[in-house]
Amino acid sequence: INIIGAEYIASAVKPEQFPEEKMLEIAFIGRSNVGKSSLINSLTRTRNLARISGTPGKTQTINFFKLRAKYYEDESVKDFYLVDLPGYGYAKTGKSARKIWASFIEKYFLTSEQIYCVCQLIDIRHDPMQSDIDMFKWLVKNNLPVFVIATKADKISKNAVNKNIARIKKALGVPELMILPYSSVKNDGRSYLLDFIGEALVE
Ligand code: GDP
Repeated sequence: INIIGAEYIASAVKPEQFPEEKMLEIAFIGRSNVGKSSLINSLTRTRNLARISGTPGKTQTINFFKLRAKYYEDESVKDFYLVDLPGYGYAKTGKSARKIWASFIEKYFLTSEQIYCVCQLIDIRHDPMQSDIDMFKWLVKNNLPVFVIATKADKISKNAVNKNIARIKKALGVPELMILPYSSVKNDGRSYLLDFIGEALVE
């Protein structure tokens, strides 16, 4: 598929604010500064859809974007939501703020019936943080399909990519997991991710 349209629809802090129109949802989550906005902008080829925020942890709303996918083969189009979730693991967020964050995100994960998958972003350069591992395990435990994407792949060598992917799999406790290396600078991983979404939309 190709993305031929991307439009901001809504920001929500509670389920009542989720968009009324229901469509398949692809959610994106990760630690603050993991490269989520950059990835969303790379995927949609927009510069400012998910504003690259200068203040980590600042975006505390769930943002819905309506994306229009066009299939190369028959030129048919399909719409879906890209759901941008607030970053977790921001050191300066206090405990109570973290609790509010968690209950709000959990509500989204547990009430939305349209989630096709949750793309969890992890920085390829480092071993996953405890918050990454906790999030991954929580999603798996709650039967949400997780697709792990290792961001900033252009920052390390090709050899290091494979090595670090293996380390991330090990840390998450799933050695056979498929992890997609992604570079928002080079758009590496973009066509794979688009194919993956394209297949989701025909199901
Ligand atoms: P967010 O907080 O998760 O939305 O992260 P951002 O998208 O704002 O990215 C955080 C920082 O990492 C910014 O300085 C980006 O320019 C940088 N960054 C994000 N993705 C990539 C990437 O794929 N390659 C490189 N080299 N830098 C990246």
